[in-house]
Amino acid sequence: MISPAEVADRLGALRERLSRAGGDQVQVVAVTKGFGLDAVAAAREAGLTDLGENYAQDLLAKATELSAGSESGLQPRWHFIGRLQRNKIRKIADVVHLWQSVDRPELAAEIAKRAPGARVLVQVDVAGIGGRGGCAPDDTAGLVGRSREVGLEVAGLMAVGAPGSPEDARPGFRLLASQAQDLGLAELSMGMTADMEVAVEEGATMVRVGTALFGPRPR
Ligand SMILES: *Cc1c(COP(=O)(O)O)cnc(C)c1O
Repeated sequence: MISPAEVADRLGALRERLSRAGGDQVQVVAVTKGFGLDAVAAAREAGLTDLGENYAQDLLAKATELSAGSESGLQPRWHFIGRLQRNKIRKIADVVHLWQSVDRPELAAEIAKRAPGARVLVQVDVAGIGGRGGCAPDDTAGLVGRSREVGLEVAGLMAVGAPGSPEDARPGFRLLASQAQDLGLAELSMGMTADMEVAVEEGATMVRVGTALFGPRPR
């Protein structure tokens, strides 16, 4: 059971970390993947409005359970942050506030069909590791253009940092920031529990944080 008081404490510590890195204004997206509704409720009670999930099924289950239960007032703004499958988009189209992981034109087209005008981020594989999603950096501008052509609102770019030490993630974050600047995109979703300071130093406007708020993930 995730305790609201504990999450509130951890959020305080998290904001201090961000602040020391120069990120007082950075938006925190609380990643509840792997946790239950207790984590969702604790995050909402701590004042977190934006929550992230990696799997369509889990996101839908949580959103549905919340609206059915006595905690319906706690419905957050849901961010989809995981590998997106085209055939899952329809199911969650009504509940997703920001699609953070658009990494190919077919996904942009399907989102545009199911949620016309939706806000999205284009995910870029700046670490060049594959496996975590993201288009190749050479394809970023093209995918941003395609997404706009189908009527989506491209708010910015997203990336998962390279594994290793936080410093190993810096060059990729820097590349993402420079691509966003070249394309005139305001939002930069980068940085997780391990590398959020480096991400903030490189210009993150949004960090996606699970472990630092909820502890180690179950299963
Ligand atoms: C799991 C996950 C996070 C959060 O990771 P933590 O290390 O627990 O903070 C952020 N972004 C994505 C894409 C994830 O899959």
